[in-house]
Amino acid sequence: MKNLRNALLLKQLYQLKQLGYKYTSVTPYKEDEQDLRLPNTLESLKKQAIECHLCELSKSRHKVVFGEGNPHADILIIGEGPGTTEDSSGKPFVGRSGELLTKMIENVLHILRSDVYITNIVKCRPPNNATPTPIQAHTCQPYLMKQIELIQPKLIITLGGTAYHYLTGDDTEISKVRGTMHKQNDYTVIPTYHPSYLLRNPSAKKEVFEDLLKVKELMDK
Ligand code: URA
Repeated sequence: MKNLRNALLLKQLYQLKQLGYKYTSVTPYKEDEQDLRLPNTLESLKKQAIECHLCELSKSRHKVVFGEGNPHADILIIGEGPGTTEDSSGKPFVGRSGELLTKMIENVLHILRSDVYITNIVKCRPPNNATPTPIQAHTCQPYLMKQIELIQPKLIITLGGTAYHYLTGDDTEISKVRGTMHKQNDYTVIPTYHPSYLLRNPSAKKEVFEDLLKVKELMDK
């Protein structure tokens, strides 16, 4: 809850700044547990996220990309943040890297894309497709944590170094950590390369194939 509390505090400070305040000696935020609780269904969480203005990404986004898929999925896939196509459609991974991700799910895991749940570290597009900043990622983190709590996946596949880093707090390079398994809370995290990296480096597809075979093996157990 610390992140959400900080994010709310930041929002209130921004509001005061807009009103012309340059300095305040009082804490504007009055702790009210009601404000710090996120809804307990994915639908209402999505509604809240769609109205979110807690960080500056909300100013430039067209649509909030909350995530989509099976709300009871065993596998949760986490990317970095929406790109242009996702920002205009409101759906995760629908551009070129999305097409590749769908192939990875359907041709290697042999399940439908709609069987898994797909979301991102940040729910709004960073301008110029920049890597989300720590403030943006941490501000958005309560939504992701609540999604995980509600979906209760057995396995989380993180795509690329950013998603792995913000989910686990580990900043080991993705090339060193990919394909390894990390037990965290009630789920196992398996990091692999991001599909957009594969579009630039097709030779890395064989490593992703190996990583996904590990996912399959774990799911078939
Ligand atoms: N890249 C991501 O990390 N997420 C998307 O939703 C699309 C592209």
